[in-house]
Amino acid sequence: MSRSALLFTPGPLSTSSTVKEAMLEDMGSRDHAFVKAVKDIREGLLKLAHAPKEEGYECVIMQGSGTFGVESVISSVVGEKDKLLILANGAYGERIAKMAKIHKLNHAVLRFDEDSIVTPEAVEAFLKDNNDITHVACIHSETTTGLFNPVGDIGAVCKKYNKVFIVDAMSSFGGVVMDMVALYIDFLVSSSNKCIEGVPGFAFALCKKSELEKAKGQARSLSLDLYDQWYGLETNGQFRFTPPTLSIMAFQQAMKELEEEGGISAREERYKTNKKILDEGMHQLGFQQYLSPEIQGHIITSFLYPDSPDFKFDRFYNKLNERGFVIYPGKLSKADAFRIGNIGQIFPDDVRALLKAIEEVMKEEGVGVN
Ligand SMILES: *Cc1c(COP(=O)(O)O)cnc(C)c1O
Repeated sequence: MSRSALLFTPGPLSTSSTVKEAMLEDMGSRDHAFVKAVKDIREGLLKLAHAPKEEGYECVIMQGSGTFGVESVISSVVGEKDKLLILANGAYGERIAKMAKIHKLNHAVLRFDEDSIVTPEAVEAFLKDNNDITHVACIHSETTTGLFNPVGDIGAVCKKYNKVFIVDAMSSFGGVVMDMVALYIDFLVSSSNKCIEGVPGFAFALCKKSELEKAKGQARSLSLDLYDQWYGLETNGQFRFTPPTLSIMAFQQAMKELEEEGGISAREERYKTNKKILDEGMHQLGFQQYLSPEIQGHIITSFLYPDSPDFKFDRFYNKLNERGFVIYPGKLSKADAFRIGNIGQIFPDDVRALLKAIEEVMKEEGVGVN
Protein backbone atom coordinates (compact mmCIF):
# COMPACT_ATOMS: atom_id res chain seq x y z
CA MET A 1 0.00 0.00 0.00
CA SER A 2 1.39 3.40 -0.88
CA ARG A 3 1.83 5.90 1.87
CA SER A 4 -0.88 8.53 1.75
CA ALA A 5 0.01 12.13 1.10
CA LEU A 6 0.67 14.36 4.10
CA LEU A 7 -1.89 17.11 4.52
CA PHE A 8 -0.41 20.48 5.52
CA THR A 9 -3.87 22.01 5.47
CA PRO A 10 -6.44 23.34 7.96
CA GLY A 11 -8.50 20.15 7.62
CA PRO A 12 -9.31 17.48 6.83
CA LEU A 13 -5.95 16.53 8.28
CA SER A 14 -3.61 13.58 8.22
CA THR A 15 -4.83 11.04 10.76
CA SER A 16 -3.19 8.03 12.38
CA SER A 17 -3.74 4.55 10.96
CA THR A 18 -5.36 3.51 14.25
CA VAL A 19 -7.92 6.31 13.92
CA LYS A 20 -8.74 5.08 10.42
CA GLU A 21 -8.89 1.46 11.61
CA ALA A 22 -11.52 2.42 14.19
CA MET A 23 -13.91 2.81 11.24
CA LEU A 24 -13.64 -0.73 9.92
CA GLU A 25 -16.68 -2.19 11.64
CA ASP A 26 -20.22 -1.42 10.62
CA MET A 27 -21.97 0.21 13.52
CA GLY A 28 -25.67 0.65 14.13
CA SER A 29 -26.80 3.84 15.79
CA ARG A 30 -28.25 1.91 18.76
CA ASP A 31 -25.24 -0.35 19.21
CA HIS A 32 -24.09 0.02 22.77
CA ALA A 33 -20.47 0.60 21.66
CA PHE A 34 -21.68 3.56 19.64
CA VAL A 35 -23.88 4.97 22.41
CA LYS A 36 -20.94 4.68 24.78
CA ALA A 37 -18.62 6.41 22.30
CA VAL A 38 -21.05 9.34 22.05
CA LYS A 39 -21.24 9.58 25.83
CA ASP A 40 -17.44 9.38 26.25
CA ILE A 41 -16.87 12.01 23.58
CA ARG A 42 -19.40 14.44 25.02
CA GLU A 43 -17.89 14.15 28.49
CA GLY A 44 -14.31 14.12 27.24
CA LEU A 45 -14.70 17.28 25.17
CA LEU A 46 -16.06 19.21 28.14
CA LYS A 47 -13.08 18.08 30.18
CA LEU A 48 -10.69 19.23 27.46
CA ALA A 49 -12.31 22.67 27.62
CA HIS A 50 -12.15 22.70 31.45
CA ALA A 51 -15.91 23.15 31.43
CA PRO A 52 -17.44 20.18 33.24
CA LYS A 53 -21.10 19.31 33.34
CA GLU A 54 -21.14 19.81 37.11
CA GLU A 55 -20.28 23.45 36.53
CA GLY A 56 -23.14 23.88 34.08
CA TYR A 57 -21.70 23.10 30.65
CA GLU A 58 -23.10 20.79 27.98
CA CYS A 59 -21.75 19.27 24.79
CA VAL A 60 -23.90 19.01 21.67
CA ILE A 61 -22.68 17.03 18.67
CA MET A 62 -24.08 18.10 15.32
CA GLN A 63 -23.78 16.11 12.09
CA GLY A 64 -22.02 17.85 9.20
CA SER A 65 -18.87 19.92 8.84
CA GLY A 66 -17.72 22.68 11.18
CA THR A 67 -19.87 25.29 9.49
CA PHE A 68 -22.99 23.28 10.39
CA GLY A 69 -22.00 23.56 14.05
CA VAL A 70 -21.45 27.32 13.87
CA GLU A 71 -24.71 27.79 11.99
CA SER A 72 -26.55 25.62 14.50
CA VAL A 73 -25.40 27.86 17.36
CA ILE A 74 -25.90 31.15 15.53
CA SER A 75 -29.37 30.26 14.22
CA SER A 76 -30.55 28.73 17.51
CA VAL A 77 -29.29 30.96 20.29
CA VAL A 78 -29.90 34.45 18.94
CA GLY A 79 -33.57 35.06 19.63
CA GLU A 80 -36.01 37.26 17.78
CA LYS A 81 -35.50 40.18 20.14
CA ASP A 82 -31.73 39.66 20.44
CA LYS A 83 -28.98 41.28 18.42
CA LEU A 84 -25.72 39.66 17.42
CA LEU A 85 -22.43 41.51 17.00
CA ILE A 86 -20.05 39.70 14.64
CA LEU A 87 -16.34 40.48 14.91
CA ALA A 88 -14.77 39.82 11.53
CA ASN A 89 -11.19 39.89 10.31
CA GLY A 90 -11.26 37.14 7.73
CA ALA A 91 -13.40 34.74 5.72
CA TYR A 92 -14.71 32.81 8.73
CA GLY A 93 -16.02 35.91 10.47
CA GLU A 94 -17.64 36.91 7.17
CA ARG A 95 -19.21 33.45 7.00
CA ILE A 96 -21.00 34.10 10.29
CA ALA A 97 -22.18 37.46 8.91
CA LYS A 98 -23.62 35.58 5.93
CA MET A 99 -25.45 33.16 8.26
CA ALA A 100 -26.91 36.07 10.21
CA LYS A 101 -28.18 37.57 6.97
CA ILE A 102 -29.71 34.31 5.68
CA HIS A 103 -31.48 33.66 8.99
CA LYS A 104 -32.54 37.31 9.12
CA LEU A 105 -31.06 37.87 12.56
CA ASN A 106 -30.76 41.34 14.02
CA HIS A 107 -27.04 41.86 13.72
CA ALA A 108 -24.11 44.20 13.25
CA VAL A 109 -20.63 43.48 11.89
CA LEU A 110 -17.52 45.13 13.29
CA ARG A 111 -14.76 44.66 10.72
CA PHE A 112 -11.00 44.71 11.15
CA ASP A 113 -8.28 44.35 8.51
CA GLU A 114 -7.26 40.82 7.65
CA ASP A 115 -3.75 41.43 8.91
CA SER A 116 -4.77 42.75 12.32
CA ILE A 117 -6.49 41.27 15.33
CA VAL A 118 -9.85 42.14 16.83
CA THR A 119 -9.04 44.49 19.70
CA PRO A 120 -10.96 44.38 22.98
CA GLU A 121 -10.86 48.21 23.03
CA ALA A 122 -12.77 48.44 19.75
CA VAL A 123 -15.27 45.85 20.96
CA GLU A 124 -15.79 47.75 24.20
CA ALA A 125 -16.28 51.05 22.39
CA PHE A 126 -18.84 49.41 20.10
CA LEU A 127 -20.76 47.82 22.97
CA LYS A 128 -20.86 51.14 24.84
CA ASP A 129 -22.46 52.81 21.85
CA ASN A 130 -24.81 49.94 21.02
CA ASN A 131 -26.46 48.63 24.11
CA ASP A 132 -29.01 46.63 22.11
CA ILE A 133 -26.34 43.98 21.40
CA THR A 134 -27.03 40.74 23.32
CA HIS A 135 -24.58 38.26 21.72
CA VAL A 136 -21.02 38.59 20.38
CA ALA A 137 -19.40 36.14 17.95
CA CYS A 138 -15.69 35.91 17.25
CA ILE A 139 -13.22 33.55 15.55
CA HIS A 140 -10.31 32.36 17.69
CA SER A 141 -7.81 31.08 15.10
CA GLU A 142 -8.75 32.94 11.88
CA THR A 143 -7.73 30.25 9.42
CA THR A 144 -7.86 32.75 6.54
CA THR A 145 -4.52 34.15 7.67
CA GLY A 146 -3.51 32.13 10.73
CA LEU A 147 -3.83 34.90 13.32
CA PHE A 148 -5.13 34.35 16.84
CA ASN A 149 -7.73 36.81 18.10
CA PRO A 150 -7.40 37.57 21.83
CA VAL A 151 -10.57 35.76 22.85
CA GLY A 152 -9.84 35.96 26.58
CA ASP A 153 -9.66 39.77 26.52
CA ILE A 154 -12.70 40.00 24.27
CA GLY A 155 -14.51 37.57 26.58
CA ALA A 156 -13.73 39.79 29.57
CA VAL A 157 -15.35 42.73 27.76
CA CYS A 158 -18.40 40.58 26.95
CA LYS A 159 -18.62 39.57 30.58
CA LYS A 160 -18.36 43.18 31.76
CA TYR A 161 -21.24 44.22 29.48
CA ASN A 162 -23.21 41.02 30.12
CA LYS A 163 -23.17 39.69 26.55
CA VAL A 164 -23.34 36.05 25.48
CA PHE A 165 -19.98 35.16 23.93
CA ILE A 166 -19.81 32.71 20.99
CA VAL A 167 -16.41 31.55 19.76
CA ASP A 168 -15.56 29.65 16.59
CA ALA A 169 -12.48 27.81 17.84
CA MET A 170 -12.69 25.39 14.94
CA SER A 171 -9.07 25.29 13.91
CA SER A 172 -7.54 25.75 17.36
CA PHE A 173 -9.50 23.66 19.86
CA GLY A 174 -7.34 20.67 20.78
CA GLY A 175 -4.19 22.43 19.60
CA VAL A 176 -4.26 25.30 22.09
CA VAL A 177 -4.86 24.94 25.81
CA MET A 178 -8.19 26.66 26.42
CA ASP A 179 -10.20 27.08 29.58
CA MET A 180 -13.67 27.97 28.40
CA VAL A 181 -14.75 29.29 31.79
CA ALA A 182 -11.68 31.50 32.29
CA LEU A 183 -12.09 32.88 28.75
CA TYR A 184 -15.77 33.74 29.48
CA ILE A 185 -16.94 31.66 26.50
CA ASP A 186 -20.61 30.66 26.52
CA PHE A 187 -20.58 28.71 23.25
CA LEU A 188 -17.43 27.19 21.75
CA VAL A 189 -17.60 25.41 18.40
CA SER A 190 -15.11 23.06 16.77
CA SER A 191 -15.25 19.94 14.59
CA SER A 192 -14.12 16.34 14.29
CA ASN A 193 -11.45 16.86 11.65
CA LYS A 194 -9.28 19.59 13.15
CA CYS A 195 -6.86 19.46 16.09
CA ILE A 196 -8.41 16.45 17.83
CA GLU A 197 -7.26 14.66 14.66
CA GLY A 198 -10.39 12.70 13.81
CA VAL A 199 -12.02 12.38 10.40
CA PRO A 200 -14.75 14.68 9.00
CA GLY A 201 -18.38 14.04 9.92
CA PHE A 202 -19.52 16.29 12.73
CA ALA A 203 -19.13 19.51 14.64
CA PHE A 204 -19.54 20.00 18.36
CA ALA A 205 -20.69 22.93 20.45
CA LEU A 206 -19.69 23.27 24.09
CA CYS A 207 -22.42 25.31 25.68
CA LYS A 208 -23.21 27.06 28.90
CA LYS A 209 -26.36 25.21 29.89
CA SER A 210 -28.27 28.23 31.15
CA GLU A 211 -27.81 29.88 27.73
CA LEU A 212 -28.50 26.67 25.79
CA GLU A 213 -31.84 26.32 27.57
CA LYS A 214 -32.91 29.75 26.33
CA ALA A 215 -32.64 28.41 22.76
CA LYS A 216 -35.60 26.08 23.28
CA GLY A 217 -38.16 26.57 20.53
CA GLN A 218 -36.40 29.43 18.78
CA ALA A 219 -34.30 27.61 16.14
CA ARG A 220 -34.72 28.70 12.54
CA SER A 221 -33.99 25.27 11.10
CA LEU A 222 -35.14 21.77 11.97
CA SER A 223 -31.89 19.89 11.35
CA LEU A 224 -29.69 22.55 12.98
CA ASP A 225 -31.81 23.02 16.10
CA LEU A 226 -29.15 23.08 18.81
CA TYR A 227 -31.54 22.69 21.73
CA ASP A 228 -33.49 19.78 20.22
CA GLN A 229 -30.27 18.04 19.25
CA TRP A 230 -29.04 18.38 22.84
CA TYR A 231 -32.37 17.22 24.23
CA GLY A 232 -32.25 14.05 22.11
CA LEU A 233 -28.69 13.24 23.11
CA GLU A 234 -29.44 13.96 26.72
CA THR A 235 -32.69 12.01 27.06
CA ASN A 236 -32.13 8.81 25.06
CA GLY A 237 -28.51 9.20 24.00
CA GLN A 238 -29.57 9.27 20.36
CA PHE A 239 -29.16 11.65 17.47
CA ARG A 240 -32.42 12.83 15.96
CA PHE A 241 -31.27 11.89 12.46
CA THR A 242 -28.71 9.41 11.07
CA PRO A 243 -25.50 9.93 13.03
CA PRO A 244 -21.99 9.86 11.54
CA THR A 245 -21.36 6.49 13.23
CA LEU A 246 -17.92 5.71 11.87
CA SER A 247 -16.66 9.24 12.26
CA ILE A 248 -17.72 9.03 15.92
CA MET A 249 -15.82 5.75 16.39
CA ALA A 250 -12.73 7.31 14.81
CA PHE A 251 -13.07 10.34 17.06
CA GLN A 252 -13.27 8.23 20.19
CA GLN A 253 -9.94 6.68 19.17
CA ALA A 254 -8.51 10.12 18.31
CA MET A 255 -9.39 11.38 21.79
CA LYS A 256 -7.65 8.38 23.31
CA GLU A 257 -4.56 9.15 21.25
CA LEU A 258 -4.66 12.79 22.28
CA GLU A 259 -4.56 11.67 25.89
CA GLU A 260 -1.71 9.25 25.17
CA GLU A 261 0.26 12.06 23.55
CA GLY A 262 0.02 13.96 26.83
CA GLY A 263 -3.14 15.95 26.33
CA ILE A 264 -3.65 19.31 24.67
CA SER A 265 -0.54 20.91 26.15
CA ALA A 266 1.72 18.23 24.63
CA ARG A 267 -0.06 18.51 21.30
CA GLU A 268 0.29 22.28 21.41
CA GLU A 269 4.04 21.82 21.92
CA ARG A 270 4.30 19.47 18.91
CA TYR A 271 2.43 21.93 16.71
CA LYS A 272 4.62 24.78 17.94
CA THR A 273 7.75 22.77 17.17
CA ASN A 274 6.41 22.04 13.68
CA LYS A 275 5.74 25.74 13.23
CA LYS A 276 9.22 26.75 14.40
CA ILE A 277 10.91 24.35 11.97
CA LEU A 278 8.63 25.54 9.17
CA ASP A 279 9.30 29.22 9.92
CA GLU A 280 13.06 28.80 10.02
CA GLY A 281 13.15 26.65 6.88
CA MET A 282 10.87 28.94 4.86
CA HIS A 283 12.85 31.97 5.99
CA GLN A 284 16.05 30.31 4.78
CA LEU A 285 14.40 29.63 1.44
CA GLY A 286 13.59 33.34 1.26
CA PHE A 287 9.83 33.26 1.84
CA GLN A 288 8.08 36.10 3.64
CA GLN A 289 5.12 35.67 5.95
CA TYR A 290 1.98 37.71 5.53
CA LEU A 291 1.35 38.41 9.22
CA SER A 292 3.60 40.03 11.77
CA PRO A 293 4.83 37.39 14.24
CA GLU A 294 3.13 38.88 17.34
CA ILE A 295 -0.36 38.03 16.07
CA GLN A 296 0.50 34.83 14.19
CA GLY A 297 -0.81 31.61 15.75
CA HIS A 298 0.82 28.18 15.53
CA ILE A 299 -1.95 26.45 13.56
CA ILE A 300 -1.47 27.66 9.99
CA THR A 301 0.81 30.21 8.30
CA SER A 302 0.28 32.38 5.21
CA PHE A 303 3.36 32.81 3.01
CA LEU A 304 3.46 35.47 0.32
CA TYR A 305 4.12 34.38 -3.26
CA PRO A 306 7.78 34.93 -4.10
CA ASP A 307 8.43 38.05 -6.12
CA SER A 308 9.41 36.15 -9.26
CA PRO A 309 7.68 35.91 -12.65
CA ASP A 310 8.59 32.22 -12.77
CA PHE A 311 6.48 31.38 -9.72
CA LYS A 312 3.17 29.82 -10.72
CA PHE A 313 1.20 28.62 -7.72
CA ASP A 314 -0.63 25.84 -9.60
CA ARG A 315 2.65 24.32 -10.79
CA PHE A 316 4.18 24.69 -7.31
CA TYR A 317 1.14 23.07 -5.71
CA ASN A 318 0.98 20.19 -8.21
CA LYS A 319 4.67 19.41 -7.97
CA LEU A 320 4.48 19.26 -4.19
CA ASN A 321 1.39 17.09 -4.52
CA GLU A 322 3.26 14.66 -6.77
CA ARG A 323 5.84 14.37 -4.02
CA GLY A 324 3.17 13.57 -1.44
CA PHE A 325 2.79 16.99 0.23
CA VAL A 326 -0.52 18.80 0.13
CA ILE A 327 -0.39 22.51 0.94
CA TYR A 328 -3.29 24.97 0.83
CA PRO A 329 -4.09 27.92 -1.42
CA GLY A 330 -4.51 31.39 0.03
CA LYS A 331 -7.79 33.12 0.79
CA LEU A 332 -6.62 36.69 1.31
CA SER A 333 -8.47 39.58 -0.23
CA LYS A 334 -5.44 41.85 -0.58
CA ALA A 335 -2.35 39.69 -1.15
CA ASP A 336 -1.26 36.61 -3.06
CA ALA A 337 -0.29 33.94 -0.57
CA PHE A 338 -0.48 30.23 0.09
CA ARG A 339 -0.93 28.49 3.42
CA ILE A 340 0.85 25.71 5.24
CA GLY A 341 -0.69 24.07 8.30
CA ASN A 342 1.19 22.35 11.10
CA ILE A 343 -1.70 20.39 12.54
CA GLY A 344 -2.80 16.75 12.28
CA GLN A 345 -0.46 13.76 12.32
CA ILE A 346 2.48 15.89 11.22
CA PHE A 347 5.81 15.60 13.01
CA PRO A 348 9.07 17.57 12.82
CA ASP A 349 10.60 15.18 10.26
CA ASP A 350 7.54 15.60 8.04
CA VAL A 351 8.03 19.36 8.11
CA ARG A 352 11.71 18.92 7.22
CA ALA A 353 10.72 16.64 4.34
CA LEU A 354 8.23 19.24 3.11
CA LEU A 355 10.89 21.97 3.25
CA LYS A 356 13.25 19.81 1.22
CA ALA A 357 10.55 19.22 -1.37
CA ILE A 358 9.81 22.95 -1.56
CA GLU A 359 13.50 23.66 -2.13
CA GLU A 360 13.65 21.08 -4.93
CA VAL A 361 10.55 22.41 -6.63
CA MET A 362 11.80 25.99 -6.44
CA LYS A 363 15.05 24.93 -8.09
CA GLU A 364 13.25 22.95 -10.77
CA GLU A 365 11.00 25.90 -11.52
CA GLY A 366 13.93 28.29 -11.59
CA VAL A 367 12.36 30.48 -8.94
CA GLY A 368 14.98 32.31 -6.94
CA VAL A 369 13.25 33.49 -3.84
CA ASN A 370 16.29 35.01 -2.19
C1 LIG B 1 -12.35 24.79 9.26
C2 LIG B 1 -13.01 26.00 9.82
C3 LIG B 1 -14.41 26.13 9.85
C4 LIG B 1 -15.35 25.08 9.34
O1 LIG B 1 -15.18 24.74 8.04
P1 LIG B 1 -15.93 23.48 7.44
O2 LIG B 1 -15.40 23.45 6.04
O3 LIG B 1 -17.37 23.71 7.48
O4 LIG B 1 -15.53 22.30 8.27
C5 LIG B 1 -14.95 27.22 10.49
N1 LIG B 1 -14.18 28.17 11.04
C6 LIG B 1 -12.84 28.09 11.00
C7 LIG B 1 -12.04 29.17 11.66
C8 LIG B 1 -12.20 27.01 10.39
O5 LIG B 1 -10.87 26.93 10.38
